[in-house]
Amino acid sequence: MNKLILVWFRNDLRIHDNEVLLEATRKGDAIVPVYCFDPRHYGPTSYGTRKTGPIRAQFILESVADLKRNLQALGGNLITLMGKPEELIPQLAVQYGVNEVYHHREVATEEIDVSERVETALWKRKINLKHFIGHTLYHKEHLPFPIKDIPDVFTNFRKKIEKESTVRPCFSEPSAICIPENMLVDHLPSLSDLGYDGQSSLDSRAVLQFKGGEREGLKRMQEYFWEHDALRTYKETRNGLLGANYSSKFSAWIALGCLSPRKVYWEIKKYEKERVANDSTYWLIFELLWRDYFRFMFKKYDNKFFLKAGFKGQAPSEAPNQRELFERWKLGQTGIPFIDANMRELNATGFMSNRGRQNVASYLVKELQVNWTWGAAYFEEQLIDYCPANNWGNWAYLAGVGNDPREDRHFNTAKQAQLYDPAGKYIQLWNNVS
Ligand SMILES: Cc1cc2nc3c(=O)[nH]c(=O)nc-3n(C[C@H](O)[C@H](O)[C@H](O)COP(=O)(O)OP(=O)(O)OC[C@H]3O[C@@H](n4cnc5c(N)ncnc54)[C@H](O)[C@@H]3O)c2cc1C
Repeated sequence: MNKLILVWFRNDLRIHDNEVLLEATRKGDAIVPVYCFDPRHYGPTSYGTRKTGPIRAQFILESVADLKRNLQALGGNLITLMGKPEELIPQLAVQYGVNEVYHHREVATEEIDVSERVETALWKRKINLKHFIGHTLYHKEHLPFPIKDIPDVFTNFRKKIEKESTVRPCFSEPSAICIPENMLVDHLPSLSDLGYDGQSSLDSRAVLQFKGGEREGLKRMQEYFWEHDALRTYKETRNGLLGANYSSKFSAWIALGCLSPRKVYWEIKKYEKERVANDSTYWLIFELLWRDYFRFMFKKYDNKFFLKAGFKGQAPSEAPNQRELFERWKLGQTGIPFIDANMRELNATGFMSNRGRQNVASYLVKELQVNWTWGAAYFEEQLIDYCPANNWGNWAYLAGVGNDPREDRHFNTAKQAQLYDPAGKYIQLWNNVS
C-alpha cells in the first residue's frame, strides 16, 4: 500500500533545512502539503487589538505564495485553505486517505492549543500527528540541561551552551516532491479575503522594502553578508536606527521560517572562513542565541509570559490614566521626539530597531506606568517580524517580570537619543509628516 503523509506548514515556510518536509518525502510515497489561513490570526484579540496588522498579513501572503512556487518547482504544490487547522487538517487527511500528519511543534499557548486540537481530531480518525522540533539553532536534545533547569539568567545559559552544545548541520533539500494526482489546489487568498482593505504598501522611509518568502530571505542574507559585507561590522552598527544595513533585518523571515536560523549560523561560519571571523560574526550568533533562549523559556514557563506579573509574580505599578497615556504612546504623540519617532516608524513600516523597541517599551512601563501587556499586544499587531517568544519574552524582560537579572532597569530616553541619534537625523525623518 502506498504511504501518504500530510505536511502541515505553519511557521516553517521553506524548502531548505526543513526536517518535516525532508522526512515526509523520504518516508511517504507522496505528500499532501497544506497551509491553513487560520481566521483567528486575523481577528480581534482580548486587548482590543487585531492579532495581525495589514503589513504582516501581506508578508505572510507573500511567504505562502513563495512556498507554493518553490514546491511547484520540485514537482509538488500547496493546498491553501481558510479555516481552523483542527477542522481542515483532519478533513483533508480523510479526504486523501493519508496515513500520518507531520508538523513542527510550537512553544506558545495558543499555537500549542491548536496542535492539541488537531492531534485529538486526528486521533479520533486513527491518524497520528508526528511532532518535529525545528525552530531553534540548538536542538532541545543537545542542551546541557533539561528545559526545566535552564537558568533564568541568559548569560549562564549562553556560557554553558557555548561550551557544551553544538549546532546541527542543515537538513538537505528534497530533490523532488511527489503529490497525489488528484490533489485539489485553490487560489491563494488576497488581503481582502483576510479582511483587510486593499493592497498594503510600505512607507518609502522604511529601512527595507520587506517582501515575504524563502527566496527573498535567502537573497537578503546573500546581500547583507556577501555583497554589502555588512556582517564584518555588525557589532559596531547593530544599535543603529537608519538604513538597511545597521543590522541584518532577518527577523521577519526567521519568524515565519522562510529563513532557518541554522542556515544563518552555517553561512556565518562560511563567512568566517572565507572573509573574517571577529566580534561581529560572533555577535550575530549571540543574538540568535537570545532567540533560542526565549523559546526555551516559553517551554519552561508555559503561559506565564502572557501574565502581567510574568514568572516573577509581581506586576509593575500602573498610572490611573493609563488608557489615555497608552493611546498617545501608540500614535507617537507622547511629546518625547525619540519615542514618537520610533512609534511612527513602527506604525508606518511594521519595523523598529532593537534599540528603539527597548526604549519605547521601557518608556511605556517605567515612565508612563502603563500595563506592559497592552504594549506587547500592540507590538503583536504591528510588527512584521512578530513571534510570540521574542515579543513577549523581551517585553516581560523590560517590564522587570521576566529574565532581566537587574532590578529596576531604566532607560534614560534623553541620553539614549543623544547617544544613538546625536545629530537628530532619525527623529527628523519620522517626526516630519510624510
Ligand atoms: C520589546 C521588544 C519586542 C521584540 N519583539 C520581537 C518580535 O516579535 N520578533 C522578533 O523577531 N524579535 C523581536 N524583538 C527582538 C529584536 O528587537 C529583533 O529581533 C531585531 O530588532 C530584528 O532586527 P534584525 O533582524 O535586524 O536583528 P539583528 O540584530 O540582525 O539580529 C539577528 C537575529 O537575532 C534575533 N534577535 C536579535 N535580537 C534579539 C532579541 N533581543 N531577542 C530575541 N531574538 C533576537 C532575531 O531573530 C534577529 O533577526 C523584540 C525586542 C524588544 C526589545
